[in-house]
Amino acid sequence: MTVKFLDLGQQYRAIKEEVDAAVIATLESSIFVLGPEVDAFEREFVAKHDVAHGIAMHSGTAALHLAMLALGVGPGDEVIVPAMTFTATAAAVCYCGATPVFADVDPKSHTLDPASFEARITPKTKAVIPVHLYGQPADLDPIVAIADRHGIAVIEDAAQAHLARYNGRPVGGIGRISCFSFYPGKNLGAYGEGGLAATDDAELAHKMRLLRDWGQARKYDHEMLAYNYRMDSIQGAILRVKLRHLEGWTEARRQRASLYQSLLQAEGAEVAQEMPGRRHVYHIFSIFYPERDRLRQHLADQGIETSLHYPVPLHLQKPYAHLGYREGEFPASERVGKEQLSLPLYPELGEAEIERVAAAVRAFS
Ligand SMILES: *Cc1c(COP(=O)(O)O)cnc(C)c1O
Repeated sequence: MTVKFLDLGQQYRAIKEEVDAAVIATLESSIFVLGPEVDAFEREFVAKHDVAHGIAMHSGTAALHLAMLALGVGPGDEVIVPAMTFTATAAAVCYCGATPVFADVDPKSHTLDPASFEARITPKTKAVIPVHLYGQPADLDPIVAIADRHGIAVIEDAAQAHLARYNGRPVGGIGRISCFSFYPGKNLGAYGEGGLAATDDAELAHKMRLLRDWGQARKYDHEMLAYNYRMDSIQGAILRVKLRHLEGWTEARRQRASLYQSLLQAEGAEVAQEMPGRRHVYHIFSIFYPERDRLRQHLADQGIETSLHYPVPLHLQKPYAHLGYREGEFPASERVGKEQLSLPLYPELGEAEIERVAAAVRAFS
């Protein structure tokens, strides 16, 4: 019997009737791009995150790109990004012609280290992108305080952190702009690609709406060079259905994470922790092991699927090689690369399977 890392089919079967009805109604409406389903999804999604405006897009990467364009990030500017994140965070900086400047993560939370961020600020720094990695909110209070002091915009990369909270506030409305992804495996996943930028600033929201749809406030009246980053109507309709279940799924993730924690904590292994004052939504459940690759093989031998997030920090990846970083510069990010292992965790995962995974981890140590 295998334990799958992720099983999106189980979730679809549980909500099949609602999803199928929403898809068919959308097909019958003959509105295939943006439209009322996407408008309604934008409103319902940002309401859950206490933010005023939501701009739905084709992907989380598109949201990051347009967030920076709306803020005026361009050639000659620098944007500070943690070295330990998915490549999209830094790639979007390059799409604007700006330079990603890497900083290290905190060794405990694995999110942007405020001191490392502050040390990388130069007169060219225009923005910083704290990433709520694995579903744990970055330490936003000190990050926002440092950014404000230097006149730097904070863009939250909340691609992994739907419904996460920082000191009681939902993520997504704490920085100037926040970016969510609805890639199928994310905590709120479309059945295809999807993303959204959220902001309380009406002017930035207006700019991102124009940038998303060819710069058109009126049809064929193009106010600027812009993009086709629109969300499909079917994805909007599916995401509206799934949003109604998100709180329940998030609680299910948290309960499964706490079962793993109680079964693994005694092992002396470092296990994913919720930092004080934060609501971790466990997009990924991590453990850290010096002999990670051997442990991964040991689990694979027993039919337990695992994954790595992420094996090589961005400062050591080819797309950013021209920036001249060296191994050893960001020890906490590099340690995550070498020691982090993602265990199976999704809302439908059974308790018996979690016990089996934990027993296999314990048998290894
Ligand atoms: C998934 C992800 C993105 C990109 O989102 P897409 O919808 O896949 O374009 C950006 N940042 C992080 C941290 C992610 O996990």
